[in-house]
Amino acid sequence: RAKGLGKNRYHRFDPELAREQINLQAQVQRLRQALTASEFVLHYQPKVNLATQAVIGVEALIRWQHPEQGLLPPAAFLPDLEGSDLEVPIGQWVLRKAVEQMAAWLRMGLQLPISVNISASHLLHPGFIQHLQTLLNEYPQVTPGMLEIEVLETAALSSLDQGRKVLDECHELGVLLSLDDFGTGYSSLAYFRNLPVDQLKIDRSFVCDMLDDPEDRNIVDSVVRLARAFRREVIAEGVETPAHARALLQMDCRLAQGYGIARPMPADQISAWQAGWKGLILA
Ligand code: C2E
Ligand code: MG
Ligand code: MG
Ligand code: MG
Repeated sequence: RAKGLGKNRYHRFDPELAREQINLQAQVQRLRQALTASEFVLHYQPKVNLATQAVIGVEALIRWQHPEQGLLPPAAFLPDLEGSDLEVPIGQWVLRKAVEQMAAWLRMGLQLPISVNISASHLLHPGFIQHLQTLLNEYPQVTPGMLEIEVLETAALSSLDQGRKVLDECHELGVLLSLDDFGTGYSSLAYFRNLPVDQLKIDRSFVCDMLDDPEDRNIVDSVVRLARAFRREVIAEGVETPAHARALLQMDCRLAQGYGIARPMPADQISAWQAGWKGLILA
């Protein structure tokens, strides 16, 4: 966070920078309290198969129920967390909450897989696999295949050497792996054909713009073909309209997620949403 130092050769005292760092420390402290006070919540966004209209699972997305500011999106607090000693504890909280939720849904007769976003430093934390294993042992009714980990394509790439081992271990546990925001990084064929990746998740920027921008459409089409060629699943995020869904089906991309299907929602709304889900009208 040495923002503002630029190319200065002498690190003169910079009052603005100092203030920024104090603010950051205060914010991390505030986030620590938030974790203790159970102010974080997970919302869940459905993922569906556009061809069969089946609900295939949900993605867990963190929010902060701030006592004064209301419900805050991850962009409002995750950047401050980055690199702090809270990144792993909050990541572990998310994983535990998601596994607990799958167990709770199973008790209601609802078998709903959950995907969880994991930061690179959490994934590379030495205790990651041990924690995951312990958690899954605690909830034997939740099979490992119901849990999917989403890692940013860019993160998986930059940490390949260290990351490789932990991805293999996840795979060995039976937990699925998805490369999130796919298309924004620089993964080569050679790179990901050797990784135990189950799914490519096409970044929503390409999906949102694909109807107006032929280049974005080409990227979506290429990722779908890439996934096919390597027998990986592919899912599109950012499906906002039936026209997006139609275009995806034409490209043979069946799995989708987006505001046009459902917005992220609290856990207790999921079963009612699912009961009312009649599918997208594509005609
Ligand atoms: P992501 O994993 O790519 O998640 C998708 C984001 O796109 C979510 O934003 C979701 O609400 C939003 N979205 C879904 N469908 C649409 C759509 O049709 N149109 C538009 N414009 N947006 C859509 P959200 O919840 O604000 O999360 C932002 C990012 O924060 C996530 O991107 C993920 O990278 C990160 N994140 C969220 N929860 C967690 C978490 O528990 N742990 C970690 N490490 N990162 C998280
Ligand atoms: Mg994600
Ligand atoms: Mg994404
Ligand atoms: Mg994203």
